[in-house]
Amino acid sequence: MKLFLKYLALILVIALIAFFAFAPRFIDKSNNKVTLKVDHPEKPVWYDSIPFIADLHCDALLWNRDNLKKHSYGHVDIPRMQEANMAFQVFTIVSKTPRGINIEQNSDETDQVALLSFAQLRSPEDWFSVKKRALHQTKALYQTAEKSKGNFRVITSRFNLQQYIQDRSGNRLLTAGMLGIEGAHCLNDELSNLKEFYDAGVRYIGLAHFFDNAWAGSAHGMVKGGLTEKGKQLVRSMDSMHVIIDIAHSSAQTIDDVFALTNSPVIISHTGIKGVCDNNRNLSDKHLLEMGRRNGLVGIGLWETAVCGTDAAATAKSIRYVADKIGVEKVALGSDFDGAIGTHFDVTGLPLIVNALLKEGFSKEDIYKIMGGNVRDFLMRNLPSK
Ligand SMILES: [Zn+2]
Repeated sequence: MKLFLKYLALILVIALIAFFAFAPRFIDKSNNKVTLKVDHPEKPVWYDSIPFIADLHCDALLWNRDNLKKHSYGHVDIPRMQEANMAFQVFTIVSKTPRGINIEQNSDETDQVALLSFAQLRSPEDWFSVKKRALHQTKALYQTAEKSKGNFRVITSRFNLQQYIQDRSGNRLLTAGMLGIEGAHCLNDELSNLKEFYDAGVRYIGLAHFFDNAWAGSAHGMVKGGLTEKGKQLVRSMDSMHVIIDIAHSSAQTIDDVFALTNSPVIISHTGIKGVCDNNRNLSDKHLLEMGRRNGLVGIGLWETAVCGTDAAATAKSIRYVADKIGVEKVALGSDFDGAIGTHFDVTGLPLIVNALLKEGFSKEDIYKIMGGNVRDFLMRNLPSK
């Protein structure tokens, strides 16, 4: 009997070690699929001279990866950004997602990121606190910058963006990132936490993610209400601190409330457009026109629910729609790379988007803007000055 228990204990220990060694990578790999691997996509001769390729949204920080190494799975890391001539990527923080996540209706009762943090053996603080796990992700991006030997930096102001643009004109291998948040629930319902996240480098905040929270209703929440009184205070404070408002995942009522409360040029960091792909996830024409009126920026995604397709042509079609409705200066890429989505290609496949934009009839100058010039110019107008 004793021997049996010993064997049982041994098997359990081996199973646990195997779980913690392989599960996080397995979850990452199976959530962030590339369906059509293209090793060296064809590109226009001028592709590598596009001055500033940028993307408004990726969730790479959620997974246990060393972003300075090239991976054979997932969508974004620094070496792949360099390969794609990519200058700038927003790294967004996902801190809580419900079980059975869907775009119609979710409650806030379950927390899959807690389980993931446990499987990843992150600090026990992360298992229980959405705020701590969000703050740890902000630190991870700075650690990447520290270890990058100058190849990667974190942008927090117009001043350091300007500096970066200048430095990169002499070295195309330089890369940069900025921090954003997906869902203000990680502020733990305390307005005073906004300053802590600002100090941690966060420069845009998506008000709600997949469930309604204390600040705002989500498009996928139970009630889908608007901004709460607290939420209105949050929006005002974000405005005064130059933290950009992201209306991705917000309910229609929340978007109306934001537009009524502030005249700021807000972003929608990763979306599709109902006019091309009609579902509960995507932006209506009414809201799109208002985004245009206030010089906002619309980031178009690369996945099925956003653009009703996963190839570059589907993304280009939605970009064409936005450009025709509100102007080519107001549309950008909002890939949602590594956001538990499948795409045809990882970041090294961005030349395919350029080819698809050419087929949509955009000029080289327009493509420079769409591929990142618009993000650069928007941030030069809307980030804090220093
Ligand atoms: Zn999202």
